[in-house]
Amino acid sequence: MIKAHKTRINPTEEQAVYFRKACGTARFVYNYGLAEWKRHKSENRDTPFGPMALKKEFNAIKRERFPWVLEVAKDVAENAFFQLGAALSNFSASQQGKRKGKKVEFPKFKSKHSRKQAFHLNNDKVKVRDHELYVPCLGWVARRIAESLRFSGKIMSVTISRRADLWFVSITVEMEKIDKPKSTGRRTVGIDLGLKTFAVLSDGARFESQKPLRHGRRKLRRLNRTLARRKKGSKRWWDARNKLGRFHYRVACLRSDFAHKATTQIAESYDLIGIEDLNVAGMVKNRKLAFSISDASWSEFVRQLEYKCEQSAATLVKVNRFFPSSRLCPKCGTINHELTLKDREWVCECGAAHDRDLNAAHNIRDEAVRLNQCPVVATSDKNARGPNVRPALAGSPGGSETARRSGAHIAH
Ligand SMILES: [Zn+2]
Repeated sequence: MIKAHKTRINPTEEQAVYFRKACGTARFVYNYGLAEWKRHKSENRDTPFGPMALKKEFNAIKRERFPWVLEVAKDVAENAFFQLGAALSNFSASQQGKRKGKKVEFPKFKSKHSRKQAFHLNNDKVKVRDHELYVPCLGWVARRIAESLRFSGKIMSVTISRRADLWFVSITVEMEKIDKPKSTGRRTVGIDLGLKTFAVLSDGARFESQKPLRHGRRKLRRLNRTLARRKKGSKRWWDARNKLGRFHYRVACLRSDFAHKATTQIAESYDLIGIEDLNVAGMVKNRKLAFSISDASWSEFVRQLEYKCEQSAATLVKVNRFFPSSRLCPKCGTINHELTLKDREWVCECGAAHDRDLNAAHNIRDEAVRLNQCPVVATSDKNARGPNVRPALAGSPGGSETARRSGAHIAH
């Protein structure tokens, strides 16, 4: 299992100069490689030409033509070629339909003004010890790393990146696979994700929404306005841009901190966890909700929960997004088609009273337990359609529960 630890790094001015130079080198080499690759392809279409050939060609001329690349570790250039190679092969795999997910675009030239500035170092030359990092051609970056390495194992690679005017180091470590204890399946829980209350658990626990960006909207507007008024590229423009960047970074930290606390607590407290398989990308297309959904960052929450369950003894079961979790009465099995957007509570015709979110969490838990006992074969069609999507419950309409649910969240 490969895990990454990313943390802040506070370089001295001298070290920051090196980092900026290395970012520039990585970008230059990537762009050089891409231009060369295009040239080769247009001249002789059929000869294979990849990152290794590009690297060889570059190494032969670099001392003559680009002597400044020698000022930084040679891994920087090497990794830029590998990155380009990966981008090219991802593109061709995507063109040939061999790659899942969104279509990959043809690699673009990297801009000096892009938000993503980074370079990579190989494991054989870097050294890591408590709060310190050894970088080739620079030396020890001593006592300048915010946290000491969280994982123990073989270091695979180191990436140094910049966001606004802050620097980060990400260290990937190969860890031995932990034989996780077998889940006892006794402590089960269902999680209903919402916008007003971020998550409601079937045992009654609630995680309130933080809405970090919504609360900071006025500040965000002010920062954007200041940036717009300043002359692009000027010193004051860069100051404003860095301030805006730091604001976005802070929001991201608040979100991730909230998600980490909640997911750690959940993954450690239960054996079997049921959660809805939400189509977040699809829901963000609903413009009324996009802001709130992005602010709630469910996908990050689910991603963290997945890997934390992998480490703890918990089993995570994703319940089909068409499962009518909030509409189903667990007592009599009736599905309440009349449940409207505003109904926070409802009474079933059998007399049972339900709190909407809590009932949904209960139903998700029960469905997860059922699925865990008789695992269903996953269908390849993620956006299941048609009449036979989920045959388990009688009287279920073919329509999308998620679509209705996402509508329902407007009512909050
Ligand atoms: Zn009922």
